[in-house]
Amino acid sequence: MEMDDEAAGSRALELRALIAHHDHCYYGLDAPEVPDASYDALWRELQSIEVAFPALITPDSPTQRISGAPAEMFGSVTHHVPMLSLGNAFEDADITAFDRRAREALILQGDLAADGLLEFDAELKFDGLAVSLRYENGHLVQAATRGDGSTGEDVTLNIRTIRAIPLRLNPRTLTAPELLEVRGEVLMFRADFEQLNQTQRAKGEREFVNPRNAAAGSLRQLDPKITSQRPLRFFAYGIGTVDDRTRQQLPPTQSGLLEWFVSLGLPVGPCRETILGSPGLLRFWTRVLAQRHEFPYEIDGVVYKVNLRDLQDKLGWVARSPRWAIAHKFPAEEAMTRLLDIEIQVGRTGALTPVAKLEPVFVGGVTVSNATLHNEDEIRRKDLQIGDTVIVRRAGDVIPEVVRRVSEQRLSTTRPFVMPIACPVCGSTVAREPDGAVLRCMGGLFCGAQRRQALRHFAQRRAMDIEGLGEKIIDQLVEHELVQTPADLYRLSTEVLAPLFRAKNPREESRAASNLVQAIAASREVRLERFLFALGIRHVGEEIARILARAYGDLDPIIQEDWTERLDQKLAVQKENQRRRQRSDPLLVVPLEGIGSEIIGSIGDFFAQPHNLRVIDALRAGGVRWPVGTGTKVGWQNISEESVGAVEEEIKIPSGVCSGQTWVITGRLPTLSREEAAERIRLAGGKVAGSVSKRTDFVLAGEEAGSKLDRALELGVPVIDEIDFLRRMLDG
Ligand code: NAD
Repeated sequence: MEMDDEAAGSRALELRALIAHHDHCYYGLDAPEVPDASYDALWRELQSIEVAFPALITPDSPTQRISGAPAEMFGSVTHHVPMLSLGNAFEDADITAFDRRAREALILQGDLAADGLLEFDAELKFDGLAVSLRYENGHLVQAATRGDGSTGEDVTLNIRTIRAIPLRLNPRTLTAPELLEVRGEVLMFRADFEQLNQTQRAKGEREFVNPRNAAAGSLRQLDPKITSQRPLRFFAYGIGTVDDRTRQQLPPTQSGLLEWFVSLGLPVGPCRETILGSPGLLRFWTRVLAQRHEFPYEIDGVVYKVNLRDLQDKLGWVARSPRWAIAHKFPAEEAMTRLLDIEIQVGRTGALTPVAKLEPVFVGGVTVSNATLHNEDEIRRKDLQIGDTVIVRRAGDVIPEVVRRVSEQRLSTTRPFVMPIACPVCGSTVAREPDGAVLRCMGGLFCGAQRRQALRHFAQRRAMDIEGLGEKIIDQLVEHELVQTPADLYRLSTEVLAPLFRAKNPREESRAASNLVQAIAASREVRLERFLFALGIRHVGEEIARILARAYGDLDPIIQEDWTERLDQKLAVQKENQRRRQRSDPLLVVPLEGIGSEIIGSIGDFFAQPHNLRVIDALRAGGVRWPVGTGTKVGWQNISEESVGAVEEEIKIPSGVCSGQTWVITGRLPTLSREEAAERIRLAGGKVAGSVSKRTDFVLAGEEAGSKLDRALELGVPVIDEIDFLRRMLDG
């Protein structure tokens, strides 16, 4: 370390003051200002200064004592057996060194053979707070926090409200110990923590930073009634003072002790193992790290303890931690950094998400420079401004997020963020979701960000039903910029498509491409409701599309509709009905039954985008068409069952024995030509495809049916003959 005595001395003082401040926030107020990783960095810096300049070590240095002075508001409890902290290790080498040090000490004292391996008990390191529970003759008589290790806070009344902690040790065990201090961790499950914070938010009260602080804050309450409402849990992992007779009978190992706890009715962590030698410890760490997020509570690492308690006593402890145990920590999931900017990302469904651009920071095992901010409300709620210092969290594979701003004096250089009023990708208007949180781009068919999604939706079976236009092909069409909007599909040629199929040989590629071109061509003739659904208007599902098609009969009246007025009308009727409902008066028929005001708003927004209208024009120019009906728009206010029927009649929606089905015809049929059979299927609402796939509903097979029949049998697709086919058509 390049530092002289003086500089080291003043830095040590500075670090101690900083650490004392953070200790007060963390242990005293249960409200840390900085993430643990930042605190640990200060701690390690102080430790390394003290290693280089041992003369600077003072007994009150945080490296020499356990932090967490007991608060005066509680009575105090003396720990006759001190409640220690644990040494921390982050690297594999630290663990190997820990094992070596322990072995060397024991070998030196003659307690271990020169080539002896040590057996360890490996446990989870729960991220909560340590407590000591004093049981006398099996009854819980006192409970205390760790405090500074020798004096803790009396939290007996609060601890008694935790259901996981038995007030009486299992009475079925032979004789209850006269005196037993059980040490363990009080913690809060993640889901309970989320719920608690939600309640706090709703009540306008302080939210907790993490489950550990929530557990500590809940336990250290002056009013036990409050603690009783907080969902706290407990895991036992060690002992303090015990009476002499019990001491003689204690299991000789840490793992045995945990088993004994279980028999006493004390909860013990589920994941523990006895391991011989340090390589196994590292494997345990790796395994638990991979499962870290599967536990319903937070763990910040694992703990290795020399298993034989006798050897533990021989190793003893130094300053603030035992020599026989060590915490092997996991990479920190929270880190502090600066919010450099906020950019807008447009998702595949058009949602505008603000993304934080961060000063790169190492967190959760990777360097993070972007994090989600969810939506505008979140930014406001967290009171974030560009330039703020923030805490970023990355847990497992979850997208990194900005948890909160570090509360410090805000720099005068920070600036507030404003959401854009137009889509940054395509310039279309953005509209707010009815729940008010999400802004969405209205350029559904046109917006580059939504292209893949729009095409998938357009091509799907329930929409334009373009067989063979699957996700893989769509992705390539977008990637190679062959298709900008769905209208471009109708211009694709076999030559352009063939290379996308990457089949075994060019002939197969070209055949697949030509099938797709045919399928696209076949999709030109469509029913209006399917076309409306295919457009991907937000909130317009199949049912709404059907109602619209029936009411308007054609697309133009829908486009020309005054949707703002319709919305006003709808809202007025809804309001009037509300009034009438209160008086039990007959209700007015709501215009466009089944279409709510949100949907009306969204339809209006969609057709108000010139981009979308251009794409619709291009689709029509590409040959997309539908049978036109008169619609019931005249009777717009009241669509009765009869008028729906009348419209159906008029626009000749096929009566539909085959509605929504895909058929394949193969072989020579006894009486019908293939074209005739295909025509009948189409008239009955079905579709005829060229090849058999999992999506085929029926295969109509005649004589000399070949590979298509084989394929159908292989896939379990029902195969029927002409007689059966004609019978079905008649039934329809
Ligand atoms: P520690 O929490 O790292 O380790 C010791 C504790 O581990 C024990 O007291 C016990 O409560 C717990 N533990 C969990 N599972 C255990 C098991 N199976 N066996 C034994 N013990 C187990 O050490 P510490 O001294 O309590 O606190 C230091 C921690 O607090 C660090 O992680 C530090 O980052 C954090 N801290 C943060 C701030 C801040 O401002 N962010 C301030 C102070 C401390």
